[in-house]
Amino acid sequence: MESNVVLQIHNVSFAYERALVLKNISFSIRQGEFVALIGPNGSGKTTLLKIILGTLIPREGEIRLDGKPVLSYPPKERAKKMSYVSQQLSAGFPLTVQELVSLGRYPHEGRFSQAAGDTQAVEEALRLTDSLPFRERKFTALSGGEKQKVLIARALAQTSYLLLLDEPTVHLDLYFQLQILNSLTRLCSEGRSTVVAVLHDLNLVSLFADKVLLLKSGEPIAFGKVEEVMNERSMRDAFGVEVAVSRDSQSGAVYYLPRRPQS
Ligand code: ADP
Repeated sequence: MESNVVLQIHNVSFAYERALVLKNISFSIRQGEFVALIGPNGSGKTTLLKIILGTLIPREGEIRLDGKPVLSYPPKERAKKMSYVSQQLSAGFPLTVQELVSLGRYPHEGRFSQAAGDTQAVEEALRLTDSLPFRERKFTALSGGEKQKVLIARALAQTSYLLLLDEPTVHLDLYFQLQILNSLTRLCSEGRSTVVAVLHDLNLVSLFADKVLLLKSGEPIAFGKVEEVMNERSMRDAFGVEVAVSRDSQSGAVYYLPRRPQS
């Protein structure tokens, strides 16, 4: 295994019932990379995140985390290494933001103690997600965007080095989409996190992701750098959408402009 590979997905196939919803997926992710999962609705992105997390068991193939099968880690050890933010904005109990984010520390806690590291991790998570202003409020009383920030904060408070995020920016306004993704990429470049995120906005993928996996009907169409994977042809093939690809002369960033359907 290459030394800085965190996650290896090897020939993974999966079915909920009879039909395969993931077919022969293989790729690996190095420490500090931000990898985006893209593809049409129903192409298997959420299912793949749940397989990486170990909550779904592949029919074939294997996931290795730090060189060991993900299912070989006891759940608490797995939670020290990986955290997950689902698409759902619900959170069981009527807790305050601070209490909910503190729950992210559960894999690290001794039976009765709360260490200084716990407080520090919770504070940093609240700060990175701009959740400090509403830390005393009840989670249930927050807006969708505020809830999304808090659930990301809870995952950050877990201080695991692999973050699995399912559409983490979908409820956020433009400012906070950029802020949250910027914080995440900073954690990646500092080597403190590695991110796998389902994203739908091609421009956010282009701005923030190091690599992209493009799925269609459960099959991996391409995996690699953004510009290698996302082009006019692959976007047409995967999404059935005409997209104009251009480069911003000032920043050098590549932009994706979808065209209005003809009919
Ligand atoms: P995506 O995240 O790309 O939208 P999903 O991973 O949610 O796709 O779903 C992939 C396929 O698996 C879809 O056809 C979906 O209908 C099916 N599917 C998802 N969850 C279940 C489930 N719990 N039981 C049966 N089929 C499911």
